[in-house]
Amino acid sequence: MNPQESELHYPFGDSLPDTGCTIEVATGVRWLRMGLPFALNHINLWLLEDGEGWTVIDCGIATDETRDAWEQVFAQELRGRPIRRVIATHCHPDHVGLSAWLCERWNAPLQMTVGEYGLARMMSAGLPGADGPSMIPHFRSHGLTDPDKLAALDGRKSYYPTLVPKVPEHFLRLEERTPIKIGEHGWRVITGFGHSPEHAALYCDALGVLISGDMVLPRISTNTSVFAIEPEADAVGQYLSSLEKFLPLPEDTLVLPSHGKPFRGLHKRVAQLQAHHAERLDEVRVACATPQSAADIVPLMFKRELDMHQLSFAMGEALAHLHRLWYAGELKRVEGNDGVLRFVLGN
Ligand SMILES: [Zn+2]
Repeated sequence: MNPQESELHYPFGDSLPDTGCTIEVATGVRWLRMGLPFALNHINLWLLEDGEGWTVIDCGIATDETRDAWEQVFAQELRGRPIRRVIATHCHPDHVGLSAWLCERWNAPLQMTVGEYGLARMMSAGLPGADGPSMIPHFRSHGLTDPDKLAALDGRKSYYPTLVPKVPEHFLRLEERTPIKIGEHGWRVITGFGHSPEHAALYCDALGVLISGDMVLPRISTNTSVFAIEPEADAVGQYLSSLEKFLPLPEDTLVLPSHGKPFRGLHKRVAQLQAHHAERLDEVRVACATPQSAADIVPLMFKRELDMHQLSFAMGEALAHLHRLWYAGELKRVEGNDGVLRFVLGN
């Protein structure tokens, strides 16, 4: 446990649900975990009692292992009741991957925000601009010129469609202004930005539970990246202002994150994340005494060896920190004769 984590409280200790099993974390709210083949090796999903059936929150990626784990859940954990609805917090593969499979199998609707649903459909279809190869000119213009790395990016064409082969053709819209009912309880939708287009966290006042998705995680900081489809995004700025939306919730809220363990200490964690980004922005500001591309900033922010998956997030994250200072008027952006965009102090 790192020092920051020791400031949080984990009410379930080291307990983790076994594959295909669940742990009840609040009345009618059950925790399950599915494996992921990345450095981040698991995702938490939630099964909520919903009248005569269940609502599922998030899906896992489309692999046989995840489908097998779901089959165990169906056999052991549903008490003979059907899944009535599938909610996905956002469009990333670990959250929406098996949505079509779950919805078809249970004849259940998918509920998402329109921003997340739209991007999931675009990426699953591999549309130009929302696919792997669109990253090549984007990252090249931000200083990633190593031909081997660019070739590896090109090879990631099928990354998203492999993990999310299909998204249902219809959806029910989640909106911040419209609370939803799951079983006995009302849940508020809290939208968040900077990690994905319109992330939905869910808060139930009666239960004192926040399903935080990827917006508030206990152990790692949420990725905030600028990618090709929105090349001038202020992802860090959006994320930091979204974090403030969690501060009115009670400090003893039980936070159910998509990665890591359920915890209490929401305000503490928000403060840690704000401090983390302030430190990152300080490092970037100091470096930008001389012109820096996003590729120049990556080794400053990430001091370990990165695989291609990690490098693409690291490039996106470095650029997002440069953009925050650019939008704040602290940096200006200059294009070099080599076509690379660099950022330097001044306005
Ligand atoms: Zn995510």
